[in-house]
Amino acid sequence: VIELGMPERAVTTTCAYCGVGCSFQAEMKGDDVVRMVPYKEGKANHGHSCVKGRFAWGYTQHPDRITSPMIREKITDPWREVSWDEAYDFTVQRIRAISDEYGRAALGAITSSRCTNEETYLVQKLARAVFGTNNVDTCARVCHSPTGYGLKTTLGTSAGTQDFDSVEESDVMLVIGANPTDAHPVFASQMKRRLRAGARLIVADPRAIDLVRSAHVEADHHLQLKPGTNVPLINALAHTVLDEGLADEDFVRDRCEVDEYAEWRDFILRPENSPETVAEITGVPAADIRAAARLYATGGNAAIYYGLGVTEHSQGSTMVMGMANLAMCTGNIGRNGVGVNPLRGQNNVQGSCDMGSFPHELPGYRHISRQDVRDIYEKEWGVTLDTEPGLRIPNMIDAATGGTFKALYVQGEDILQSDPNIKHIAAGLSAMECVIVQDLFLNETASYAHVFLPGSSFLEKDGTFTNAERRINRVRKVQEPPAGKGDWEITQDLAQKLGYPMHYNHPSEIMDEVARTTPTFQGVSFERLDQLGSIQWPCNEEHPEGTPVMHIGEFVRGKGKFMLTPYVATDERANRKFPLLLTTGRILSQYNVGAQTRRTENRVWHGEDWLELHPSDAETRGIRDGTLVAVASRMGETTLRAIVSERMMPGVVYTTFHFPETAANVITTEYSDWATECPEYKVTAVEVRPCNTM
Ligand code: SF4
Repeated sequence: VIELGMPERAVTTTCAYCGVGCSFQAEMKGDDVVRMVPYKEGKANHGHSCVKGRFAWGYTQHPDRITSPMIREKITDPWREVSWDEAYDFTVQRIRAISDEYGRAALGAITSSRCTNEETYLVQKLARAVFGTNNVDTCARVCHSPTGYGLKTTLGTSAGTQDFDSVEESDVMLVIGANPTDAHPVFASQMKRRLRAGARLIVADPRAIDLVRSAHVEADHHLQLKPGTNVPLINALAHTVLDEGLADEDFVRDRCEVDEYAEWRDFILRPENSPETVAEITGVPAADIRAAARLYATGGNAAIYYGLGVTEHSQGSTMVMGMANLAMCTGNIGRNGVGVNPLRGQNNVQGSCDMGSFPHELPGYRHISRQDVRDIYEKEWGVTLDTEPGLRIPNMIDAATGGTFKALYVQGEDILQSDPNIKHIAAGLSAMECVIVQDLFLNETASYAHVFLPGSSFLEKDGTFTNAERRINRVRKVQEPPAGKGDWEITQDLAQKLGYPMHYNHPSEIMDEVARTTPTFQGVSFERLDQLGSIQWPCNEEHPEGTPVMHIGEFVRGKGKFMLTPYVATDERANRKFPLLLTTGRILSQYNVGAQTRRTENRVWHGEDWLELHPSDAETRGIRDGTLVAVASRMGETTLRAIVSERMMPGVVYTTFHFPETAANVITTEYSDWATECPEYKVTAVEVRPCNTM
């Protein structure tokens, strides 16, 4: 700031980190960003920000940026810088050859939450209309795919129910498997303000996260459960509600499928779901479970907020449905201050799902098997669509190692770092004949790529991101992409080179197509976004200015659907060789695989990942604060520095996952959610020893 001097103009845009979706003003002098100032009119952040959005944008100018397309025949060859045309010709020749030899099922694409709605829409369009396959997936596969499944099944739509400001009317918050202070800091501040004003708090987490006890905020109940036992806990909370006559039977009768409620009621009231039985499984005293359930059911407006500590389990989808069951049976849905709210991790994870980046769904969460929906896109795109769901990311990798999947276009994702079982991912990538990576940096996945196409950062994009509250925010370009092309232009170029007539002049035209073809986006356009500032979908004739709170009066699916949620223990168990359970999470200053934040000054706050463990586990192993420890699971081993902390419960250890040097996914397991294949990152049996004794 001091070097660049006073700004000359400001451009309003959206943070590219977490799902809060804070609005910022990029203050400019000439072509340089002087600073990022949180925007007072931003409806998600009201002028607030955290250290990532405010300070961690310098990666856009980092010398590691790749500014020229590159190709290589084999992944052992050195990269060769080439013109765009040569890179496209090389790519198209390989894709055509693979398609001719192996068929279109050998092709696929992965979109990213780092990219705009318009960019992800184009990637799935490229896969479906140009490659001719539904083999398209998004990074939500490894984070919130169970949210999509669970909320759609029970409530009718794959999204959170509330806007952030709804929390101002919450009397009780139930925070499960989320650490908002680190992962969603601006919303955490809003929660804390409400808590200081008198709202009550229940935290369910194996770790004593900041919300459990911080300045002027203390949870009424900390349900410190063992990793992998969310489902019995939510069942026991519901059991208490029914057992003690606290259900809102009027709400259930008016708003829900009553036959399914009766069946669910019988199931939940079984002894196996009682707090007294579940206490054994979860480690949470029955009295605490009962007290928390009473507070949730009788304390006024009660809202559930949850994160990856819910979804990244073998029963992630079951748990999402369990939370919806609890909210419905207490009438805590369909008005301000209540609801079931996923705290989406990434800036545009909601949007990438909305835009049809799933192998079974077209934009707007409509199943590919629906002829009426396919008709819309076949007419719009001028093609015949495949009627069968395509491959998910793990299926693509399995098919690659099996020899039937050969070409992958990855936009803005580093699957070799962010997906589980890295050795298997590497084997899959190395078995492919054409891996195309479009990104800012030569990431880990690019080490297996044949084509590298230089992408654009959020400061170089025009488009939209959709945050955790379904709010569509504008992203505005303040600088030119160093390689001269936006991500949407690269996808469009590839489509054209492959012979498909894709011709947009600006990302706004892509959004116009989304609005034309997707009922929930009918009223969305760049023009309206500029007028209104932002819009929460659904936005259509019925809701011309958007929808802050969903399911008012009626659920999107009509009647709310109670789902049975039997507990099935994960196959990952602590044992004599690996007696501790590892769980994972984020820290405030770093972000996900760290590709962005590690290339900023935020590195000075946290320059490495660590392992947190309880003093009793540390003492028995001769570990102190700062000891370098080896962490081994049956999948592999990594090295981390130890932090000894009372935040942990005995028998449970915790690590962050922001640095490739200590790649947590070397040790995470192959288990995943039964419905969506979201990896079970939150339960890994490990042993920990000081490095010199292992
Ligand atoms: Fe806001 Fe999240 Fe960005 Fe922080 S990281 S500024 S909370 S959007």
